[in-house]
Amino acid sequence: MAERLAGKAVADAIKEDLSKKIEELKSKGITPKLGILRVGARPDDLFYEGGAKKTCEAVGMQYEVFKYPEDIDQANFEKAVIEVGANRSINGILMFAPLPKHLDERKIRSLIPVEKDVDSMNLDSAAKVFADDPTGFAPCTPAACMEILKFYDIPLKGKRAVVLGRSLVVGKPVAMLLLREHATVTICHSRTENLPEVCREAEILVTAVGKAKMVKGNFVKAGQTVIDVGINEDPDNPGKFVGDVDYEQVEPIVEKITPVPGGVGSVTTAVLCKHTVMACEMQNNLVMV
Ligand code: NAP
Repeated sequence: MAERLAGKAVADAIKEDLSKKIEELKSKGITPKLGILRVGARPDDLFYEGGAKKTCEAVGMQYEVFKYPEDIDQANFEKAVIEVGANRSINGILMFAPLPKHLDERKIRSLIPVEKDVDSMNLDSAAKVFADDPTGFAPCTPAACMEILKFYDIPLKGKRAVVLGRSLVVGKPVAMLLLREHATVTICHSRTENLPEVCREAEILVTAVGKAKMVKGNFVKAGQTVIDVGINEDPDNPGKFVGDVDYEQVEPIVEKITPVPGGVGSVTTAVLCKHTVMACEMQNNLVMV
C-alpha cells in the first residue's frame, strides 16, 4: 500500500508558518493583502475564491474582491486592472481565468505588475520562473506540487522526474521547478511516443493532463512517487472528481501518491497566501532576493 501524500498536512504547515510571519509583519505596522479580480460569477471561480478568503482569514491576512460584470469592455477592464495594480495596499493579485472571450486576455495579463503577480498570469513572471529569478512567482499549482515534495522529504537532486503535460499553468513551470531542484526532467505530451514506458522510467511522476484516470497501472512501477494534479469529473460517478491517475490501479504499485481530492488542490490557496506574504516582504524591502 502506498504512502498517501495528503495535502492538508502540507497546507497546515504552510499556514502555521505564515501566521507567525504575518504577526511579525503586523508588529511593524504591515498587513499583507490579496486583491482578487473576478469577471462574472463562474461556479469554479466562486469556489476557489471562497477557499482563498478562508485561507486569508486563517492566517490573518487581508483580502479584497474586485468584481466586474461579465460584459465589461476591454478599456474599462484594463483601467480596473491598472488601478488595482497601482493600489499600494494590495500586495498580491489573483485574477480568475479564462476571461470572457470578448476580452484580450493576453493584454490584460500583461497589466498585472510582476511584483504582485502571485499566480503567474503575466508572461514576464513565467520568464523569471524559467530564469530561476526568485522575484518572479510560479503559478500556485506547480508551486503546491513542490511544497508537497518538500514536506514529505522526497529527494529530487539527481532523480528522474517525468512531467505529463506541457501547459504554461502546470506542466512547463513544474518542470522548471523540478529542474531548479536538480532533478533530471522529461516533459511528455499528447504526441509523446511510448508514453507508459517513459512514465515508468520516472522516480517522480507528475501528471497534469486533464484526462480522468488516464494513467493506468502500466504507466508506473514500484518505488515511484506520483503527484496527481488532475481534477476531472469522474465518468463513472458524475458530480464526483478524480485525478489523471487511475488510483485503484496505481496506488497498490507505487511507493507514494497524492489523492484526488485532498492532494495538490488542497495546498494551492496556502501557496497563494505564501506568495502574497513574500510579495509584501519584497515590496517593503524586508527580504534580500
Ligand atoms: P491543459 O492546458 O489542457 O494541458 C493538458 C496537457 O496534457 C497538454 O500538454 C496535453 O498535451 C497533455 N495531454 C492531453 N492528453 C494527453 C494524452 N492523451 N497523452 C499525453 N498527454 C496528454 O491542462 P492544465 O491546465 O495543465 O490542467 C491539467 C489538469 O490539472 C486538469 O485536470 C486541471 O483541472 C488540473 N488542474 C488542477 C489544479 C489544482 O489546483 N490541482 C490547478 C490547475 C489545473 P498537448 O500539449 O500535446 O496538447
